[in-house]
Amino acid sequence: MVLANGDASSAPASMLSKETLDYKTALQVFEKEYPLRDGIDVKTLLDSANNGGLTYNDFLILPGYIGFPASAVALDTPVTKRITLKTPLVSSPMDTVTEENMAIHMALLGGLGVIHHNCSPDAQAEMVRKVKRYENGFISDPVVLSPKTTVAEVKQLKERWGFGGFPVTENGTLRSKLVGMVTNRDIQFHNNLDDPVTVVMSTNLVTAPAGTTLSEANTVLRESKKGKLPIVDEQGNLVSLLSRSDLTKNLHFPLASKLPHSKQLLCAAAIGTREEDKARLAKLVDAGLDVAILDSSQGNSIFQIEMIKYIKKTYPDLDVIGGNVVTQEQAAALIAAGVDGLRIGMGSGSACITQEVMAVGRPQAASVHYVSSFAARFGVPCIADGGIQNVGHIVKGLALGASTVMMGGLLAGTTESPGEYFVSSEGKLVKAYRGMGSIDAMEDKKAGAGAANSKASNAGTARYFSEGDRLLVAQGVSGSVLDRGSITKFVPYLLAGLQHSLQDIGEKSLSELRENVRNGKVRFELRTVSAQAEGNVHGLHSFDKKLYS
Ligand code: GDP
Ligand code: GDP
Ligand code: 5GP
Repeated sequence: MVLANGDASSAPASMLSKETLDYKTALQVFEKEYPLRDGIDVKTLLDSANNGGLTYNDFLILPGYIGFPASAVALDTPVTKRITLKTPLVSSPMDTVTEENMAIHMALLGGLGVIHHNCSPDAQAEMVRKVKRYENGFISDPVVLSPKTTVAEVKQLKERWGFGGFPVTENGTLRSKLVGMVTNRDIQFHNNLDDPVTVVMSTNLVTAPAGTTLSEANTVLRESKKGKLPIVDEQGNLVSLLSRSDLTKNLHFPLASKLPHSKQLLCAAAIGTREEDKARLAKLVDAGLDVAILDSSQGNSIFQIEMIKYIKKTYPDLDVIGGNVVTQEQAAALIAAGVDGLRIGMGSGSACITQEVMAVGRPQAASVHYVSSFAARFGVPCIADGGIQNVGHIVKGLALGASTVMMGGLLAGTTESPGEYFVSSEGKLVKAYRGMGSIDAMEDKKAGAGAANSKASNAGTARYFSEGDRLLVAQGVSGSVLDRGSITKFVPYLLAGLQHSLQDIGEKSLSELRENVRNGKVRFELRTVSAQAEGNVHGLHSFDKKLYS
C-alpha cells in the first residue's frame, strides 16, 4: 500500500487537530487510519513472477517495536522434527569445515556440527565417537582396564582416547568388581613401562551406589575432590563412571546441545545415497550418531528416497535430514519418504559454481521461502544452507522460514576447522576452503587420498561425481578464507548479533519471528541496486571493519 506522502492535506484529520499525541493514542490512530501496514509481506516480496528470484541482499526487514532487551531474545529452534537446539547454527559437512574439533565446539556453543564424509567410514566413525565421548553425565561404557594392563598400554590408551582416568576391574570389563583407578598422575613419572597398573593405581576409592541421580553423584564428586567417581552396584561391580571435567564443561557451556539422558553432545554426520553408504551408516550409528544428513546437491532422486525409507526402517531412533532441495516439488518427495528435516540450497554456496556450469539452482532467499513455507505444513524443519556471509544473512534465512542456517565459508577460517593457517601472497593469515565439488576435492576422493586439510584418509564422498565418470566436471572451486579466530568467540558474536537484530525487528524469539512473518506482521522492503550501495559503507577514504571486540 502507499502511505500519505508528506503532503499535509492528505494527513488524517486527527493528526492535524492535535499538536501532540501520547504514545498510546498515536498507536490507536495509526491502527485505525492505516489498517494496512507499511512495507510488504513475505509473499509479495518473494513473488518470483513480479520480483524475480531474490537472494539475501535483495531485501531488508523493516524495524518493529522494541519492548525488551536483546538478551531476552530466545534463539532455541528445531533442527529436525525431534531435536531442538538452543541456537540456530549448523556447520557444513565439508572437509575444510567440520571434523571432530568443529563438531565438538559447535555443539558446546549450542549448535550442531555435521561431520564430512570425504574419508573412510572408519575415520568418520572415529570422529563421531570423539564428539560423543567428549562430554557425559554418567559414562555408561567407560574404557576399563584389567589388572594385567601394563603402564605402557595405559599410555597408549591415553594417546588414543585423549583421557587418562581409567577404572580397573577384576576381569577388565564393566560389571566386574572394581579394584582400583589409574589416572594421569599415577603414570606420569612412572618409568617402568612393563609394570602392571596394579603397581600404580589407587585403591582407596570414593564410589557412589548404582541408582544415585546425576545431581547427587555430582555432589559426591565435588565433595570428594577427586577427578573421577566410579558408580558401583551392591556387589562392588563397576556400572558407570562420572568425570569432574564434565561439571566444568557444563558450567562453561550452558547452551550446549546435549541429549537429556546421557548429557552427551549431539553429533550429525553426512553420508551419500549409495549401497556402500549403508555400511558406513552402520559404523556411524555404532559410534553414537544422532542425525544423518543425506548429502546430495540435488536431493530429489530415487536413490535418496530409497535411502530415507531404509534408514527410517532400520534405525527408527535416528533422525534423517534430506536434501538438498530448492523447490516445493523436491521437498514434497522427500517429506513423503519420511525425512525429519530438509536442507535447502543449490548453487548459493560461496565456493560453488553449480549455477554457472549446470544452469540449475535457485537464488537462496526464494529457495528458503518456498521450501520452508511448504515444509512447515508438515512440521518439517529446514536448514538454509549456503550463501551466509554475515549476521544479516542468518537473520534473513531464519525470517524466511528456515529453522537453522548452515555455514561453510564463514566457519572455514576458524581455529576449529581442519588444517593449518598459512600466509597468503598478500601477507594475510588464511586457511584453505574448497567446495566439495571442486576438482581438488573430487581428485582426493578418486585417489582415496583423503582431504587436503583433513586428518582423515581414504576419501569416500560421491556428492558431485559418479564412479563411472571419465571426466570430472567441477561444481566448486578451491581457495582460501581469512582467519576468523576461534569459534568460541566468533559464534557468540553471531548469536549476540542475531539477538540484536530480532530486537530491532521487535520479535522476542525465532518461533515468533517465523510466525509473524507468516501472518504478515513482519514487513519487508525490496532493495534496489543503489539501496544496496547505500546500505554498505560508502564515501570513506579508508576504514577498518572490525566486527566485534
Ligand atoms: P582424564 O582425567 O585424563 O581422564 O580426562 P578428563 O577428566 O579431563 O576428561 C575426560 C573426558 O572424557 C570427560 O569429559 C569424560 O566424559 C570423557 N570420557 C568419555 N569416555 C570416557 C571414558 O571412558 N573414561 C574417561 N575417563 N573419560 C571419558
Ligand atoms: P541441565 O544442566 O540443563 O542439563 O539440567 P538437568 O536438570 O538435566 O541436570 C541435572 C544435573 O546434571 C545437574 O546437576 C547438572 O548440573 C548436571 N549436568 C548437566 N550436564 C552435565 C554433564 O555434562 N555432566 C555432568 N556430570 N553433569 C551434568
Ligand atoms: P557457504 O557457507 O560457504 O556459502 O556454503 C556452504 C555450502 O555450499 C555447503 O553446505 C554445501 O551445501 C555447498 N557446497 C559445498 N561445496 C560445494 C560445491 O563444490 N559445489 C556446490 N554447488 N555447492 C557446494
